[in-house]
Amino acid sequence: MKKHNFSAGPCILPQEVFEQAAQAVLDFNGMGLSILEISHRDKAFVAVMEEARALALELLGLTGKGYQALFLQGGASMEFLRIPYNLMKTDGKASYLDTGTWASGAIKEAKAFGETIVVASSKPENYNHIPKDFVIPSDADYFHCTSNNTIFGTQMKSFPETSVPMVCDMSSDIFSRTLDFSKFDLIYAGAQKNMGPAGVTLIVVKESLLGNTNRAIPNIMNYQQHIDKESMYNTPPVFAVYTSLLTMQWLKNLGGITAIEKQNEAKAKLLYDEIDRNPLFIGTTVKEDRSNMNATFLLADGNHKEVFDSMWKAAGVSGINGHRSVGGYRASMYNALPIESVQVLVDVMKELETKI
Ligand SMILES: *Cc1c(COP(=O)(O)O)cnc(C)c1O
Repeated sequence: MKKHNFSAGPCILPQEVFEQAAQAVLDFNGMGLSILEISHRDKAFVAVMEEARALALELLGLTGKGYQALFLQGGASMEFLRIPYNLMKTDGKASYLDTGTWASGAIKEAKAFGETIVVASSKPENYNHIPKDFVIPSDADYFHCTSNNTIFGTQMKSFPETSVPMVCDMSSDIFSRTLDFSKFDLIYAGAQKNMGPAGVTLIVVKESLLGNTNRAIPNIMNYQQHIDKESMYNTPPVFAVYTSLLTMQWLKNLGGITAIEKQNEAKAKLLYDEIDRNPLFIGTTVKEDRSNMNATFLLADGNHKEVFDSMWKAAGVSGINGHRSVGGYRASMYNALPIESVQVLVDVMKELETKI
């Protein structure tokens, strides 16, 4: 039986993408060769990379607006480092909003490059909300935020107005909701939360932002180098790029971000309504900052854990154990998760009431 997969990442992708990707491993484009055995310089793969880069910009509404899309290796964690390398002046400063484990990971890396100001942090409340009142220094080289906090289940619903370039880690909500993406100067996202398999990161950067730091940047760390080489400076992770392209094509055929956003809102509402209605469960974050991607919740009485766990497992639900830093449960409802899966989980939560 195919499971209802609520895994936080790597995570569910559309079934048709799994099938197309599997086919390409056996025979890519009818070439009589696997996608895993052709040169990345083969025109068939160059076309994949070109389409992936163009489609990422198209889905975000950023075509022709001075942005470049790159598909690079190293995960989102590598960008924690590449960003200050490319954007922080040698005597400059950076500003960061600390909303969770990933944000603080990015802050740690920036500190190795220069003055790093944390404009606000929700750490004292175990990151259960998004800080709202903070001031971004106007002389900062950039401001960095995390749009969705995968571990804690919070999501930024609005972004500050600032004259400072805005950088955003969108790893866990890329392509999930409509935003004015042109407000951001650099967006990055590890593929494995909403876009594809692990092994590739999408970086969307306004090209005019680059080349202003006086810093010597090693080629592999240098965004401009990767742009000049059309994201083929070294061998790209061909399978991860191809599968990400298939997911983006799936999303485009569905009607793009506006269409998926409606589904994502309906899924999140279904689950949060049950968390709020059912006295056996408690949400862990403040309501206004709840993530539509990752819902975190606890059992009101931990003694019900054994019964509840056996019930959702029997219903075919997978991947809802909470992250160790929050405990309880985390249901991740990425783009490819059907609402029917959320309904299965909600039905189990309702059924628990009748069992105890
Ligand atoms: C998962 C995640 C990361 C880390 O991604 P890696 O690809 O494992 O480096 C960074 N930021 C956010 C928001 C994430 O969800």
